[in-house]
Amino acid sequence: MQIFLDFDDVLFNTSRFVQVLKKEFEKNGISKEEFDRTYLDYPRRQKNGRLTVYNIWQQIDYLEKEKKKSLSRLRRAVKTLVADTSSFIFPDVVKFLKTFASEDLYIISYGESELQLKKINNCGLSSYFKKIIVINQPKGKIIQQIRKETSKNVSAYFLDDRVEQIEDAKLKNPDLTTFLVRRPEGRYSDKPNQYCDFTISNLLEAKKIILKTKT
Ligand SMILES: [Mg+2]
Repeated sequence: MQIFLDFDDVLFNTSRFVQVLKKEFEKNGISKEEFDRTYLDYPRRQKNGRLTVYNIWQQIDYLEKEKKKSLSRLRRAVKTLVADTSSFIFPDVVKFLKTFASEDLYIISYGESELQLKKINNCGLSSYFKKIIVINQPKGKIIQQIRKETSKNVSAYFLDDRVEQIEDAKLKNPDLTTFLVRRPEGRYSDKPNQYCDFTISNLLEAKKIILKTKT
């Protein structure tokens, strides 16, 4: 068995993380509106094919210039915040991960940035996973590669809160069982389509289904 998990809004309470970030910005004289205007919530593919990924340090540099005031205290606060992100992990996550062997578990996160790597590496979950992958490509191809390199005929599962990722994963891996994760705390509530086998609101629902169907 192999389980591929998205990070933001699946394992990690990103909306709460962003709230805390906003508060740190506010403490340093940046309003919510100014934050929102300079924040990118999800990596975006430009017309020329380039991917724009949120970079918090660029955002602070930009605001520093715009506001004409030093934001070094904010930089320090952000560094402290991302040094330990374990409190943003959803409460059902460890219970879910402990059910399965770490050999079978992968994180696949979209949108490589320093902040993203820190959020993931400092959340305290690394030991539960065989591999943690952060990529700038849709996830279908890497899932296909991992499955080719490892055991071919075992059941494989993919959990994500974005339908576009599920669609890409399913098109490239038709036998993959897919879960659209719609947590009440999530930032998006994508509508399921024909590529989503199950829609769940927490990981324990996925656990039940996986234990019933695994081979
Ligand atoms: Mg996500």
